[in-house]
Amino acid sequence: MSNYTPIIGLEVHIELSTASKMFCGCPADHFGKAPNTQVCPVCMGLPGALPFANKKAIESTISFGLAFDCKISQESKFDRKHYFYPDLPKGYQISQYDLPLCTDGVFKNTDQSSVRIKRVHLEEDTGKLIHQTVDGKKVSLIDFNRSSVPLMEMVTEPDFNSAESVDAFLKEIQLVVRALKISSADMEKGSMRLEANISLATEQQVKDLVLPSYKVELKNINSFRFLKKAIQAEIERQSQILSDGEMVIQETRGYDEDTETTFSQRVKEEANDYRYFPEPDIPPLHISEEDVENIRRNLPELPIAKRVRFASDYQLSSDYIQVFITDYDRCAYFENAVALGAQQSLSPKMIAGVIINQNMDKQYPEPAGLVKALVEISQKEYASAGETKAAIEKVIKENPDAVEKYKSGKVQIIGFLLGMVQKELQGTGNPKDIQSEISSQLNR
Ligand code: ZN
Ligand code: MN
Repeated sequence: MSNYTPIIGLEVHIELSTASKMFCGCPADHFGKAPNTQVCPVCMGLPGALPFANKKAIESTISFGLAFDCKISQESKFDRKHYFYPDLPKGYQISQYDLPLCTDGVFKNTDQSSVRIKRVHLEEDTGKLIHQTVDGKKVSLIDFNRSSVPLMEMVTEPDFNSAESVDAFLKEIQLVVRALKISSADMEKGSMRLEANISLATEQQVKDLVLPSYKVELKNINSFRFLKKAIQAEIERQSQILSDGEMVIQETRGYDEDTETTFSQRVKEEANDYRYFPEPDIPPLHISEEDVENIRRNLPELPIAKRVRFASDYQLSSDYIQVFITDYDRCAYFENAVALGAQQSLSPKMIAGVIINQNMDKQYPEPAGLVKALVEISQKEYASAGETKAAIEKVIKENPDAVEKYKSGKVQIIGFLLGMVQKELQGTGNPKDIQSEISSQLNR
């Protein structure tokens, strides 16, 4: 195993949450809608229907590219990618071939490692096949609601050497997409889809900077967790084959969640011939310097920068920051509360604590309300240390499930326990005292 270095590249598809579809006016939000209710001649691929490009989707893709320092193509275009599949009514997908919107980006990790982004392009999603039994007969039904929903595809260079680094990168991508507000990037709803290509390099190949002569593609994996496991299983499988002196076959594989192994889906005999050619119904795109600068100016603070700032400005722990960073609205709420609380000498750490541990932001929709409540609490007489300790002991005893969850790593559950303690003390508990006492009791 140690003789080989995993070489991993990624393809990530992200459905953009625009109001309308990529090439027609139908609503793009297809999830959970009655089948074939959001369709028109364009997204059904009817002859003679004319597509037109969605400006918002183009801007969203450029904003994503800018977040990774990509070059933005001033001249871009759409191309037809031909293949046959029942969920693709036109017989081709409108995609981008040789002039993608964004190229040559880079993702810089806090640990100085980096991942090169080869390209980011825009295309349309396909319809969805639903395999069912109707009147005792096995049938395949097609729902075209998803057909032509904007799909952004990012391709990285093979710059990953472990399943862990892939996992960390993808979670960061999800945060960036959500910060940009261009997609929900929800894996369960299929708005973020992952593919990895994996091969193992020998020590000699690593030394000579040569890539292995094959790669195996892992496809149709619908969660971060399973992709991580699938990559680990694939590294093991390939290393076994190579150790036995055999060759790894270039193919596409899926992941079986039950056996925790990968399985062959299709062996590629030769490269697919998609017969790409320029989409004649959509004029080429000209993107001016000014357009790009406009989008760049409106980029939000990216997660990496926010982490650094939250640590230095507010002295928050990385645990707190990690919770905040997943929810930009909550970050804004927190920062507003800190600004208001500063005049009342409420510390950022304390404000962060009541938001994260007690969800007090849910109780007070406006930061000003929260600050007012915190000031009132701080002027109130608190329960004694003895009363607090007794209440915590009681809550821990009565909620073994929650305690178990906390100990197994679900630290967020502490919010629930804190709430129970406050209930026990009829709201007279000092949040700070409860926090430190409960932590010491739980970690005993
Ligand atoms: Zn349509
Ligand atoms: Mn694609």
